[in-house]
Amino acid sequence: MYDIIIIGAGPAGMSAAIYAGRSNKKTLLLEASAYGGQIINTPSIENYPVEENISGYDFANKLYNQVKNIGTEIKFEKVTNIKNNKDYKEVITSKDTYKTKSIIIATGAKNRHLGVSREDELVGKGVSYCATCDGTFYKNKDVAIVGGGNTAIEDAIYLSNIVNKLYLIHRRDEFRAQEVLIDEIKKKKNVEFVLNSNVVSLNGDNRLESITVEDKDGNKKDLEVSGLFIAVGRIPENDIFKDIIDRDDNGYIISDETCHTNVDGIFVAGDNRTKLLRQLVTATSDGAIAANEAIKYVNNK
Ligand code: NAP
Repeated sequence: MYDIIIIGAGPAGMSAAIYAGRSNKKTLLLEASAYGGQIINTPSIENYPVEENISGYDFANKLYNQVKNIGTEIKFEKVTNIKNNKDYKEVITSKDTYKTKSIIIATGAKNRHLGVSREDELVGKGVSYCATCDGTFYKNKDVAIVGGGNTAIEDAIYLSNIVNKLYLIHRRDEFRAQEVLIDEIKKKKNVEFVLNSNVVSLNGDNRLESITVEDKDGNKKDLEVSGLFIAVGRIPENDIFKDIIDRDDNGYIISDETCHTNVDGIFVAGDNRTKLLRQLVTATSDGAIAANEAIKYVNNK
């Protein structure tokens, strides 16, 4: 019987593993594929306290080594289900079933992709899913952003203050984002709206040099940009928990700063929960809080 099982070895899950491990609770950290989560795709992190500049890959490695050195047990197995029994909980993986007193769900969220050819190949070479992480690399350059929700418009406002010219591409002529944000972006002189249009091609040899957009009448044009920011929504990785854990309409596990879920003894940490700001620093913070709440829960049992 474990005290705490943590599902997901991204920044939130690994931070939880540090706190749980240091409390001497019998802890198991489960990861389906590679440790690190989304952050390993970020070429350079410049907004995390103390480290002025570190790659996502190095960050993930350092965090993983810290967890290992504490002695937390880590297994690379895909979790397929969880069960909430009267006196204990179960975590079912592709290989085994584990009993535990508490669970921390830290499975994160993945960026929705456009689905355009060469998208994966050009990540870090002009294609980005995070304006606040990568925007500064495009200072005084021409870039584009695609999307029409709050994230896209907030990111567009952020980018417009850094870049030379910004194309805002949206597949409709109405935005999903709040009016107040739309009013603000409309005032920006260096932003050109490209509406009723989709990105159909990413062009360039070793990195992005231009994109092709197609409007609803089938007219195509090339935009010379060195960066394309994709903000077309995120997909939280919470589907396997849907039978017992409450989620909002977008699939995020409903929680607050305490990281509790609707089920006693099951906690959530990181990008897959409802929250205002999804950043590395808020994910690691969640990990600490969720572990602390799980420790209190186990102690009181
Ligand atoms: P979102 O609200 O789901 O918006 C996604 C946008 O991308 C939509 O405009 C959608 O177009 C477009 N889109 C989706 N798939 C596409 C595709 N394949 N090709 C082209 N465009 C595509 O996602 P989000 O902006 O990331 O926001 C997620 C949630 O977080 C929302 O509830 C949002 O309100 C919230 N949020 C809140 C704040 C805030 O309160 N400050 C900030 C950020 C996010 P259509 O409109 O045509 O569907």
